Amino acid sequence: MTKFGTVYKKGGKKALLCGSGELGKEVAIELQRLGIQVIALDKYENAPAMQVAHKSYVLSMLDGARLAEIIAEEKPDYIIPEVEAIATSTLVELEKEGYNVIPTARATFLTMNREGIRRLAAEELGLKTSPYRFAATKEGYLEAVKQIGIPCVVKPIMSSSGHGQSVIKSEADIEKAWTIAQEGGRAGAGKVIVEGFVDFDYEITLLTVRHKDGTSFLPPIGHWQKDGDYQESWQPQPMNNGALEKAQEFAKKITDALGGRGIFGVELFVKGDEVIFSEVSPRPHDTGMVTMISQDLSEFALHVRAILGLPIPNIAFHGPSASKAVVVRGDSENVTFEGLDEALALPDTSIRIFGKPDVHDHRRMAVLLARGASVEEAREKVNQMYGKLKIEI
Ligand code: AMP
Repeated sequence: MTKFGTVYKKGGKKALLCGSGELGKEVAIELQRLGIQVIALDKYENAPAMQVAHKSYVLSMLDGARLAEIIAEEKPDYIIPEVEAIATSTLVELEKEGYNVIPTARATFLTMNREGIRRLAAEELGLKTSPYRFAATKEGYLEAVKQIGIPCVVKPIMSSSGHGQSVIKSEADIEKAWTIAQEGGRAGAGKVIVEGFVDFDYEITLLTVRHKDGTSFLPPIGHWQKDGDYQESWQPQPMNNGALEKAQEFAKKITDALGGRGIFGVELFVKGDEVIFSEVSPRPHDTGMVTMISQDLSEFALHVRAILGLPIPNIAFHGPSASKAVVVRGDSENVTFEGLDEALALPDTSIRIFGKPDVHDHRRMAVLLARGASVEEAREKVNQMYGKLKIEI
């Protein structure tokens, strides 16, 4: 039987969010709804989740000593990572001391780095992936490109959201792709992965939740990416039965290997009946923001239920839905949004404005959500909403 005390009192439960972006903000709200105390961490002040948390700390989450200090002081019941860039070896140590890292410290450690998760999926679990080579030096890189062949995709092993990622379409791109990867990695210059370019029909995120009574799959989410970053997602992505079964089989294998409780975003490429594993987030996924309008329990609510050991007897799906990221370009410390009255006049629509304090270059600041009679209609609606939105920087 699950028993929660009152916030701030003995017996009250405490969750520490490592990362306070738009996904963390929704997790914080879901925790709050169940009376859990939320402590939000990030590297800058007024990050979205901090605005709805009980308490927050500003630090570099890659600073293991500082992270351990805060955890020793707060003694959270749950440590919930929201991003990849965390001192995950510190989380491994803290888990040994008895802390509950979501879903497991090993899962956060392996997925922080493209090499860890790729080797687990392809070499240990035998999941089909694109052909790949890792390279730590320029020489090794040139050899890797030769072995994989053109076209191929080059990514820093420590990166996400398309940072440092590029496609080699002809020999002329080889030098440039190396430079982009060396300049765009999270940890600065370093090792890269060279992957064969997958000419997929479509790509999906298969949200998979490991909870106290087993594993549940959400309807597949299709998405469209530009420069390695998500622009639009929709649910459900139409799939033939063979491909869906295979996708679920891959998702079950990789999430079982990572273990623990919570939601996972399993990213897969599909071509005909063939399913190719790309990567997995052991946490809510940005393309899964569509579930804030498509389901009664969003990916964030499901994550929290799973973490707290609460049941997930069913996941009610409300029908075809879409999301569109609002990426603001320019430099500003006071972005304004106008035209919401017109955008939200369309039925079955919603918006989340994240409340990020500033933009430098480009930043995802909001997401538009809509339901429709079909996925096409829902996508059309989020694009119409986008047309009505006026953003000033
Ligand atoms: P990632 O950060 O690895 O998820 O990559 C971001 C996006 O780049 C993916 O969602 C795909 O749209 C594209 N991409 C990544 N790897 C490949 C690949 N090997 N072949 C084709 N497209 C890829």
